[in-house]
Amino acid sequence: MFELLKSDTSTKARLGKLNTAHGVVDTPVFMPVGTQASVKTLDPRELHEMGTQIILGNSYHLNIRPGLDILRAAGGLHRFMNWEKPILTDSGGYQVFSLAKIRKIKPHGVEFNSHVDGAPLFLGPKEAMEIQRVLGSDIAMVFDECPPYEAPAREQRHAVERTIRWARECREQPRAEGQQVFGIVQGGSNAALREECARALVAMDFDGYAIGGVSVGEPEPEMFKAIEMTEPFLPANKARYAMGLGTPAQLLELIARGVDLFDCVLPTRVARNGTAITRRGAFGLKGSAYKADFRPIEAGCDCFACTHFTRAYLRHLLNVNEILALRMLSIHNVHLFLKLMADVRAAIAAGMFADFYREFIANYVPSKKVLAARKAADNER
Ligand SMILES: [Zn+2]
Repeated sequence: MFELLKSDTSTKARLGKLNTAHGVVDTPVFMPVGTQASVKTLDPRELHEMGTQIILGNSYHLNIRPGLDILRAAGGLHRFMNWEKPILTDSGGYQVFSLAKIRKIKPHGVEFNSHVDGAPLFLGPKEAMEIQRVLGSDIAMVFDECPPYEAPAREQRHAVERTIRWARECREQPRAEGQQVFGIVQGGSNAALREECARALVAMDFDGYAIGGVSVGEPEPEMFKAIEMTEPFLPANKARYAMGLGTPAQLLELIARGVDLFDCVLPTRVARNGTAITRRGAFGLKGSAYKADFRPIEAGCDCFACTHFTRAYLRHLLNVNEILALRMLSIHNVHLFLKLMADVRAAIAAGMFADFYREFIANYVPSKKVLAARKAADNER
């Protein structure tokens, strides 16, 4: 299902093709996130025009609203939201452990209260796979336990044990036609746990592997370490997916470390508070510096927002709360991630990835938070 077309010689970057029931996905790829069956503010026509190959949907949220009966009657998620290309669905494990009020972790899943209305619910391997079967996603994720970054060693070990056991249960559930299932490696920042979890999942022969337990509040250097601890144990002939990451520079760093698939709410989330992401870092467009700035958001960008509107106009819209500004920033930000991945694929194909990567990182100004985390890590050494 995954074809490795080319491996970079000086980094671990890979060029690949992921064949799914709804078409072929060229990797490395960025998946815009449609948590509630919508990539926030964007319609499918816009996503197509930007070159979106695959989007992500979420079992936890869609199971709560609109609920399985509606999704079943609609004929699955593709038809419900009128999206014909591939969809990957998250199992809900991450949301149960981060959003919901957990009542009890049981051998076959978790008793919790809905974050919406407090209703008692149960989600485990069987339920998560049933939801994803009804959604009819091309790639389903196993139900895992994703502990927070600060979780003590004992909790990390229990999470890995449950994740392995639940992965086996997920593997045995019926699937939608042509549906692939990816395992999720947990283990926090513990190298032995990461290896143990990866080896156990690889022995179950999943269609692909995700690295979970990243983007859970850890500083950036810890996140890179978690990827480096896991990647060597994943088979070269299967797709690798880093869940919930990241900034453009982080994506480049992870591609160089052998990751193929990414999803992140960042481009749409920050767009809604007026932030534009560019190849040189992000900036808030609401500032007075852009009041009479009649340049596009990013010079050279061929997205709809940059080819039609100026920073001054979009800043005005933001300051008078016009929805168009949020839509245009979402278009620009998502387009940036998709175009960046297309450029990365071309660079790997041409044997130029190492240069592309070096130049991109040299030009990218990270956020203050990332810089502070790097400084703290340097001081520890
Ligand atoms: Zn643009």
